[in-house]
Amino acid sequence: MSVLVYIEADNGTIKGSSIEAAFYASQAAKGQAVTAVVTDKLEDSAIGELGKYGVQKVLKVSDERLAEKPVAPIATAIAAGVAESGANLVIMARSSLTDAVAPRLGIKIKAAVASNVVALPSQEGGEFVVKRSIFTGKAFVDVALKGDKKVITIKKNSVSPQATDSASVDIASLDVNFGDKDFSITLKDVKKQEGDILLPEADLVVSAGRGLKGPENWSMIEDLAKTLGAATACSKPVSDMDWRPHHEHVGQTGIKVSPSLYIAVGISGAIQHLAGVSSSKTIVVINKDEEAPFFKNADYGIVGDAFDVVPKLTEALKNA
Ligand SMILES: Cc1cc2nc3c(=O)[nH]c(=O)nc-3n(C[C@H](O)[C@H](O)[C@H](O)COP(=O)(O)OP(=O)(O)OC[C@H]3O[C@@H](n4cnc5c(N)ncnc54)[C@H](O)[C@@H]3O)c2cc1C
Repeated sequence: MSVLVYIEADNGTIKGSSIEAAFYASQAAKGQAVTAVVTDKLEDSAIGELGKYGVQKVLKVSDERLAEKPVAPIATAIAAGVAESGANLVIMARSSLTDAVAPRLGIKIKAAVASNVVALPSQEGGEFVVKRSIFTGKAFVDVALKGDKKVITIKKNSVSPQATDSASVDIASLDVNFGDKDFSITLKDVKKQEGDILLPEADLVVSAGRGLKGPENWSMIEDLAKTLGAATACSKPVSDMDWRPHHEHVGQTGIKVSPSLYIAVGISGAIQHLAGVSSSKTIVVINKDEEAPFFKNADYGIVGDAFDVVPKLTEALKNA
């Protein structure tokens, strides 16, 4: 199966989720060709990294108008990559962009589309079956994709990329004939989330809830997060009360995160909160109530007062 992977980058660096997608693509390809399409500005040296994860060829689409990640032309660019490479399987890391791009691409190239895939496809008996995470991670469903072409988006942390020794990548320019329709929607204004580490992409997250009592106590959470190089997050009531900005709210009605480490401080672990964080690889819970529901979902738990535990944890990490 010839595979094409769409690579997203931020500030000149390939996103970690796209590295996962590249690795997933090379595993799904089972020795067949893996081509990548890049529409973001990336130096060839950065693109070369993809070789370590099984990509053999990269098609670079260079057009200033793609800088703000417009959905329709990016779908057109990937479709052009499919035509150029002859790929019949397109892989993308799931993101707010690819949530919008994948169905459009599916229509353009007449492909079956599956989103939020969590494991490599099974291709037994000639049937192409993928496992999808549904109901905000509370259930899984196996779906068979029929037809010659398929598009799938994969959930973060579904594979653990393993780099091989450096392998060369063939980089070529891909000219795409964009039509006026591709740019019928233009971006007027962008309000970017503040902070060094963006929550949706963060690999480490320190999150706190109503147990912190008030916004004035967040400096210890920020201190712990800074020490770890983590993003900060919070429960819904915390953002509802304006203790923290709304873009930090995780859960069913907030951002869904899948970091390697999620530290929850003074958060009870309501089902709506868990819906956004339960696919984190390792969950550490700090709560003074040993009956707090979050402990049932924790890999590690500390029963204790956050005001006592968090500064000690930060200190220990600083000294480590
Ligand atoms: C439709 C709907 C959607 C929702 N969506 C979301 C969502 O997306 N995200 C979300 O988070 N919630 C959501 N909620 C709200 C959710 O049900 C909970 O009410 C909320 O998650 C509770 O937030 P919390 O854990 O911060 O507060 P609390 O439930 O008040 O828990 C505070 C915790 O802090 C502990 N604590 C107190 N003092 C300390 C201390 N000194 N040290 C250590 N621990 C301490 C307590 O033991 C307690 O467990 C939703 C609810 C509904 C109905």
